Amino acid sequence: MKVPILDLKPACAELRAELDAAYHRVMDSGWVLLGKELEAFESEYARSVGVGHCVGVANGLEAMQLVLMALGIGPGDEVIVPSHGYIATWLAVTHAGARPIPCEPDERTYNLDPARLAALITPRTKAILPIHLYGQTADMNAINAVAKQSGLFVLEDAAQSHGARCQGRASGALGGAAGISFYPSKNLGALADGGAVTTDDAALAEKIRHLRNYGSKVRYHNEYLGLNSRLSELQAAFLRAKLPHLAAWNARRTRIAARYLAEFRGIGDLTLPFVPAWAEPVWHLFVVRTSRRDALQTHLASRGIGTQVHYPIPPHLSNAYRAAGWKRSDFPLAEKFAGEVLSLPIGPHLASEQVEHVCLAVKDFFAGVG
Ligand SMILES: *Cc1c(COP(=O)(O)O)cnc(C)c1O
Repeated sequence: MKVPILDLKPACAELRAELDAAYHRVMDSGWVLLGKELEAFESEYARSVGVGHCVGVANGLEAMQLVLMALGIGPGDEVIVPSHGYIATWLAVTHAGARPIPCEPDERTYNLDPARLAALITPRTKAILPIHLYGQTADMNAINAVAKQSGLFVLEDAAQSHGARCQGRASGALGGAAGISFYPSKNLGALADGGAVTTDDAALAEKIRHLRNYGSKVRYHNEYLGLNSRLSELQAAFLRAKLPHLAAWNARRTRIAARYLAEFRGIGDLTLPFVPAWAEPVWHLFVVRTSRRDALQTHLASRGIGTQVHYPIPPHLSNAYRAAGWKRSDFPLAEKFAGEVLSLPIGPHLASEQVEHVCLAVKDFFAGVG
């Protein structure tokens, strides 16, 4: 039996009629950028998150970059980011011209540890940019409290957390603004790159609407040094077809996660995901941790089970940031987790026999059964 880590075909098959209709609407309209589909998706997505405004953009990285640009955060400024996470979050800060300041994670949730924030804040600090990693929100009450005390903006990286909640409030509505990604593998994915900013701040949303379109308010009248970062009509139409199914798809992920958690409880040297009482994760990934990670990955591959490491190299040790001068041991938790995490298959279209196959294979590995 094969269990791929990711397969986009079943979602397209389930929604074939809706996606075909979306495609034909756009073809028939003769309008492909900044039109009615985008406007409709923006208001539907804003409503689903519970915020006043959503601005569709080209991808998640630029969504975060555009928020920082709109806030005037740039050269000379510092933005606190997670040391353990995806490099796109750091790149958004770097491309805005500011400096990413890494903050080590909470050891149980892997999300940015609010208790470590105070020590990182300097007169240059302008914002905190937590990731809701693997589909579970960071401890936003604690992060917002620190930010409020220090007058910092909070920008959520909500690329992996569509529909996740923190104390009942949706991801995307937990800070001053959020950057969302609709990369095809995300819980809500387009059929190409896509992204959005969500916020309750009308003026900020308005500025980002201009910044995504060359900084122009009126065509050829450019107010700001903008980007070209737009969510196409076609992708907006596809996302409108998928959005009504997000909650059901997240519920299917949650059932698989519950099964894994029950089956793997008590296995020595296997650290399972931890869910605090206030969190409602959407299981973008199901990440386990073990000192025998590479052997487990090889064993699962031999049983036809695809896995991935999110992420093998912490951003501070990547070649891309070599010039910044970070070195090994600067962020020991991020480095340790990079060597131990493994993502097991999870998704709304995994069959229960496939989940069963993963459970058996993992248990066999730790029982020493080849
Ligand atoms: C996917 C992802 C991004 C980047 O989104 P893109 O749309 O691919 O630019 C940023 N941060 C996190 C945590 C992600 O998972």
